[in-house]
Amino acid sequence: MAAQLIDGKAIAREVRAEVKREVAEWVAEGHEAPGLATVLVGDDPASALYVGNKQKASAEVGIQGFDHRLPQDAGHDEVEGILRDLAADPRVSGILLQLPTPPQVDGAGLAAQIPPGKDVDGLTPLSAGLLAQGRRGLRPCTPSGIMELLRRHDVPIQGAEAVVVGRSDLVGRPVSALLLAANATVTVCHSKTRDLGEVCRRADILVAAVGRPGLVKGDWIKPGATVIDVGINRVEKPGGGTRLVGDVAFDEAQGVAGLITPVPGGVGPMTIACLLQNTLTAARRQVETARSAIE
Ligand code: NAP
Repeated sequence: MAAQLIDGKAIAREVRAEVKREVAEWVAEGHEAPGLATVLVGDDPASALYVGNKQKASAEVGIQGFDHRLPQDAGHDEVEGILRDLAADPRVSGILLQLPTPPQVDGAGLAAQIPPGKDVDGLTPLSAGLLAQGRRGLRPCTPSGIMELLRRHDVPIQGAEAVVVGRSDLVGRPVSALLLAANATVTVCHSKTRDLGEVCRRADILVAAVGRPGLVKGDWIKPGATVIDVGINRVEKPGGGTRLVGDVAFDEAQGVAGLITPVPGGVGPMTIACLLQNTLTAARRQVETARSAIE
């Protein structure tokens, strides 16, 4: 029997609608609308598109936008000054510094200074540490999106064998930590893992975040398993042109898995939806923190 598809587009739409409703309730309670600040240095068209999409999605759910665009030759100190002002601005709930930055700006160093309460990307070393220790913090968006897909399909996580292929800071490590926090038994694989297929076959939940088209074969999948394909790979089509495929050999996997995410339309749409969730969570926690400082 063919696996059931996990429709990331539909779930992302649901999440965005929920955030929109919760933002409206938050504002109706007398709070300032959450604010998302983006900082883009330079004129890279792909980066400009990413930032534009995030601001557009924020505006659609009632999140205020603070869109800072600096020229290609902006200095490190100038960018640092803007980030410092945003960190201190109570209207700003979340801050994103679009990477990469031009060479004169130490983007990674500056991003690491974003305070954890406003780190809506959840990728700074401090946020990663909070996640690793299972302490409260903002979680990275793509891994959160994966957890949301599992929850909304009622996939049992507690006690399940979860195998994550990939150990990047962006996806593999944080999704492993989130699965562990949800009481799965987690195995993390990487380029040096022996007998990868054998390890994958143990998985009730298999997450592939590698960046290698079709690496995970159908016979690596336990019958009935849930397969989450994070990979986004552009490959040539036989008749010319290109198409997007994941890290899982989809046609083979579909005949074995119980549930599977397609590429595109699976994990991809969840990332921005979870960024919006994070921005609202950040706004709520900032109000909570300010309140407990007064009391
Ligand atoms: P990455 O930083 O390049 O990490 C890839 C990981 O895969 C590494 O840990 C690497 O192992 C491992 N790996 C490479 N070849 C392998 C092999 N043959 N067998 C087993 N493991 C192998 O990539 P990433 O940023 O995590 O992204 C992974 C994929 O997800 C990419 O296709 C990316 O485009 C996609 N992605 C999608 C979204 C989204 O949907 N929104 C978000 C982020 C990323 P080592 O550590 O040993 O090198």
